[in-house]
Amino acid sequence: MADLTVDQIARLGLVGCGGAGFPTHVKLQAPVETVIVNGAECEPLLHKDKELMRLHGQEMLEGLRIAMRLTGAQRGVVGIKHRYEDVIAGIRALIGDDGISVHELTDTYPAGDEFILTFDVTGAVIPPGGLPKDVGVLTQNVETLINLARARPVTRKCLTVGGAVREPVSLEVAIGTSLRVCIEAAGGATAADIAVLTGGVMMGRLATDLDAPVIKTTGAVLVFPADHPLIAKCHRTEDHTVRIGRSACDQCSFCTDLCPRWLLGHPIEPHRAMRALGFHEERAQLVLGASYCCECNLCSLIACPEDLDPRGACIRDKPTAREQGLQHPLHGRETRPHALYSHRRTPISRLIAKLGLRQFRNEGPMRAEPLIPDRVTIPLRQHIGAPAEPTVKRGERVGEGDLIAAIPEGSLGAPIHASISGQVAAITEEAITLNR
Ligand code: SF4
Ligand code: SF4
Repeated sequence: MADLTVDQIARLGLVGCGGAGFPTHVKLQAPVETVIVNGAECEPLLHKDKELMRLHGQEMLEGLRIAMRLTGAQRGVVGIKHRYEDVIAGIRALIGDDGISVHELTDTYPAGDEFILTFDVTGAVIPPGGLPKDVGVLTQNVETLINLARARPVTRKCLTVGGAVREPVSLEVAIGTSLRVCIEAAGGATAADIAVLTGGVMMGRLATDLDAPVIKTTGAVLVFPADHPLIAKCHRTEDHTVRIGRSACDQCSFCTDLCPRWLLGHPIEPHRAMRALGFHEERAQLVLGASYCCECNLCSLIACPEDLDPRGACIRDKPTAREQGLQHPLHGRETRPHALYSHRRTPISRLIAKLGLRQFRNEGPMRAEPLIPDRVTIPLRQHIGAPAEPTVKRGERVGEGDLIAAIPEGSLGAPIHASISGQVAAITEEAITLNR
């Protein structure tokens, strides 16, 4: 639908599929010069964006053209890792003479962070605390653009199920499908006692319940033996971060040397956040830069030779400066990348080796048939902003794509639609359950 309007998009419930779930219609209202498709998919073991670009490149480009029209952008760039040669060739074959091109990205982490992606593609550094639009850029996830082109309510989610499963696979699933059903669809776990990360090994979250549902932002379901070292790190508590960090950090600053945001010239220095663990006074001055941490986890999982948690220290310190109304002098100012920026990027192969991921098959072909279970539990909060409010009653019958929860008038958010046809079985403050 080439003439799709922002109001129509708002009614479809589109949110960024790759991050925190910011409503797409809001992002599309800021005028920019360049729209970048974020096809980096830089976390290890993830494959669904690559598969989507391979299978649905035409729709992705159509979504990109809609985004360019709405934002007034003259330039569209598809960022894809250079090693996906077949995907790059496929997209290039579909591109016409309409200002769209492919940018080949390095096979490094975090290539998909929007600050890094924007710099790699345009050479412009988004200021500390800024947004891509500050340098005339909008970044959009591959799947978000495909949803935009399809112009129908968002009821499905694509994700990779990988790690310790029999058949790593990428799937299109009904929103609200449980993690357990996704794992079964990948042939089941290969370990008896498992732990599951949703989202990725670097920035994902440890799932506490296998019956938790897939939401609009779930990009991966990664299964690990419960005793895998990566899982032990996920169990680190703030008390552990502080207690061990205070005594064991030798201030070598390797964490800062490798920090991608510091390499962009931003004033984030995780070793200073670690130093601040030992101070009670003047802490705010030491941790001013922590607010510019994107929580990529490179410092904690890769850089630190002592196996400490500088990311945890940064996260802990983020509110300190905010609560005291302090801002770093470089906030919102132009910065210049470090001279060694391109030499200090972290290769994915290094991540895979260091995190003990070599034992897992790093693949995830897209399955043709969507996974549509008989029961889904659809959370009312799947996005940034206000939770959606139910518009249906228990016992009511709904069809796939029907509105079941709306955003309060004037609030930021995205409406929610039925992902299967069936009956409303339960409504709670958190979710609506549908039975086929
Ligand atoms: S947290 Fe680790 S890498 Fe950072 S300064 Fe301390 S010991 Fe070095
Ligand atoms: S998690 Fe660590 S490496 Fe990543 S941005 Fe924050 S401080 Fe830098």
